[in-house]
Amino acid sequence: MLLWNARVIDGTGRPPRERAVVRIDERRIAEVGETGGPAPEEAIDVGGRTLLPGLIDAHAHVSSDVSRSPGFGPPPPLHGEAPRRREIGYFVLAKSARALLEAGITSVRDVGSYDDEAIVLREATRLGLLDGPRILSCARIISATSPGGAIFKTMYREADGADEMRRAVREQLRRGADFIKLMATGARSVVAEDPEPAQMTTEELHAVVDEAHRLGVRVAAHVEGLGGARLAVAEGVDTIEHGLSLHRDPALLEAMAERGMVLVPTLSTFHDLAERFTDAFAPVLVEQAKRQREEAYATLLAARAAGVTLAMGHDSGPPGDNALELVRMVAGGLSAMEGIVAATQGSARALGLDDVGAIRPGATADVLVVDGDPLDDVEVLRGPERMWLVVRDGRVVAGRGRGSGTMDA
Ligand SMILES: [Zn+2]
Repeated sequence: MLLWNARVIDGTGRPPRERAVVRIDERRIAEVGETGGPAPEEAIDVGGRTLLPGLIDAHAHVSSDVSRSPGFGPPPPLHGEAPRRREIGYFVLAKSARALLEAGITSVRDVGSYDDEAIVLREATRLGLLDGPRILSCARIISATSPGGAIFKTMYREADGADEMRRAVREQLRRGADFIKLMATGARSVVAEDPEPAQMTTEELHAVVDEAHRLGVRVAAHVEGLGGARLAVAEGVDTIEHGLSLHRDPALLEAMAERGMVLVPTLSTFHDLAERFTDAFAPVLVEQAKRQREEAYATLLAARAAGVTLAMGHDSGPPGDNALELVRMVAGGLSAMEGIVAATQGSARALGLDDVGAIRPGATADVLVVDGDPLDDVEVLRGPERMWLVVRDGRVVAGRGRGSGTMDA
């Protein structure tokens, strides 16, 4: 596949390259060169549109529970209707996969789903039953026994004590996990949890990280308060999820930058609790979320100033609106280019993948071509409307332009 006359944003933050040619050979980008002379017969002329890496959501919950995605799933069941069959949920997952691709989200990191649904969707995609984004899943979230366990049920694997933590890590790998996620603190969405102190002991968190790293997988840590942040950074997790309190301790951000830890600020989740679903959450949580939202934005800027790698994680719905998080990161003070780098190269680092999130020879061919200039207005990257071409693993999977001319070949 030869994409002709593109304006290339490569995901590194370098200025765009005009009139470029991107050659894709099977699943990989083979060459990024100059347009010279007339377009060859087999080329796809993208007409100067912007070409960039497929977007990566580094904090998603792949789920058939679409209660936080109004209008996306089936209408809510009414009293008196026959109970919904559980299997309907798998069709919701399939619809999610399509919606993500159409919105240019070519990879997602699932940080907790019910009943291993993310792994089911990952496998269905891998087996060629449907097109979907690349999925990396943590299987179940490892948590100390906690009030959240009663709410999140099969999304959690509760464990206590160092030995049981090691067992919990091993269980997730047996379930098919690509990485491990732990709860370093309680959750802002649980009334009975205080998200400020560390929820695991030093020994417990150490055991999770040690076991995961020895077995060759990465660790994502849910972190809200500073107690958990200190512990997670000290024990060497790979990514900090939310991390809203970090602005209060700049030394922690410096340590993260030094060690190459990635911060996934998930601004959208605070908007959800503070503004969007205020009727659905206990009032005390809504008030807490308003404070946390301000802190999350302060941490976004403090982390950038400290040189911490940032990733885009929507942690919200509906599937396909993921780049709203990118828009919010830019509204919060990042430049459009910094936002794009977070949603591509930064998120790839969160996933621990060095061959996605980049337009360069040798990289996996996850490529978007979009209408409009995302450096002028990042909104063009939000949702399917401006997606002209979406390529995953070297194959056209979505985009308005895909039916035209040589693209069928
Ligand atoms: Zn989350």
